[in-house]
Amino acid sequence: MTRLFGTNGVRGVVNRDMTPQLALDVGLAIGTFMMGRVAIATDPRTSGDMLRSAVSAGMVSAGSSVVDLGMLPTPALQYYVKNSGVKGGVMITASHNPPEFNGIKCVDHDGTEMPRKKEEVIERIYTERSFNAPDWRNVGTISRLDGIGASYINAIRRSVDRNLIAEAKLNVVLDCANGAGSVTSPYLLDALGVRAVTLNGNPQGTFPGHPSEPTPGNLKDLMSVVKATGADLGIAHDGDADRTVFVDGNGDFVYGDQSLTVLASQMVQDNGGGIVVTPVSTSSCLEAVVKRHNGQVIYTKVGAPIVARKMMEIKALFGGEENGGMIFPEHQYCRDAAMSMAKMLEIVAKKGPLSELLKEVPRYCLDKRKLECPDDRKEWLIEQVEAHFSDQKTDLTDGVKIFFDGGWSLVRPSGTEPIFRVYSEGKDEATAKRCGDECEKVLRDLLSE
Ligand code: MG
Repeated sequence: MTRLFGTNGVRGVVNRDMTPQLALDVGLAIGTFMMGRVAIATDPRTSGDMLRSAVSAGMVSAGSSVVDLGMLPTPALQYYVKNSGVKGGVMITASHNPPEFNGIKCVDHDGTEMPRKKEEVIERIYTERSFNAPDWRNVGTISRLDGIGASYINAIRRSVDRNLIAEAKLNVVLDCANGAGSVTSPYLLDALGVRAVTLNGNPQGTFPGHPSEPTPGNLKDLMSVVKATGADLGIAHDGDADRTVFVDGNGDFVYGDQSLTVLASQMVQDNGGGIVVTPVSTSSCLEAVVKRHNGQVIYTKVGAPIVARKMMEIKALFGGEENGGMIFPEHQYCRDAAMSMAKMLEIVAKKGPLSELLKEVPRYCLDKRKLECPDDRKEWLIEQVEAHFSDQKTDLTDGVKIFFDGGWSLVRPSGTEPIFRVYSEGKDEATAKRCGDECEKVLRDLLSE
């Protein structure tokens, strides 16, 4: 059977892989599966209208009805789905990918990302073309619903101590990357009483400001404006505003594991303990700080939906990824950029500058490399790596994570390319490099066998 949905839904280059024909068929399959009211939203990509129309036409043809919410961040659609009683949602987005890409992502009735099992059912309907085809009296309708961004912002405003944030009189610089966060985050800052300068705050599908992945290289303007204006904090979202990264008051980029750790630390302290969930690839700085405050870290495979589902299962306090994706269970079980922003503002208002809060977070050095490996040898190689390190402490949650003296390496096959990735972390640069060197040598020796 064709695997339609990747880790982030169906994605491709518009009018090459991601065509209206494909979108129509995916819409027919989703409409057949959901059989009820389905919400749909887009990010600002130039192909958003084209794909929303095609997916919607497919869904109504199959007998579902569509509630079109317009342009919204992915978590705003998810929040609406969770609270409105619709059967599910569809987000037209390619998140942080370049502007020529777009994608279709499904949301379950509870607002979480569609579990793989349900995606497989949709894939089967798609592959077999077993679409519902009701007679002319029973095709669905499309209705437009505005104002969902405002209720999403209100919900977040109510989840934090608004007065505490307003009284701190914070100055921030917000970079929306010309993405979907442009229609919500500046208004949320206003609602929280924060004085903000906004960069790239006009939704524009060509992403003229910078590529929509929030990396240090793409956020140079944000860093310099924070510095030039003496702001307390810089905030940046990715294209569909489910991830947030921060720049501290010195204008320095803060890596996702570091900000995740600052938030986790505060939440565990406020709660007198609790479980924090994160993928095995996250820096050890999280566990070091969470443990210090009597909390516990549970590791999962890489992927936000996996983290979210684990959090639901074990009633975790908080969870997130090293890329700026953070999940607040009392709000919803998915990554939410605006909620991450509001929570960080609350912490800074309460505890002081982010640069000070980062002082309790240990710094580790990272070593990243990749090695070519044909797809048909990947399974064999991972078994061999596991056997090679069987005398050492390992974690087999996702690939093989090997613990060395003063560091660790995570050896994982890529799901999309013929390569293996080796991420190593150490207390200093030499240790990280030593871990990486050892794993690379083992992989090379095995591959040359
Ligand atoms: Mg995203």
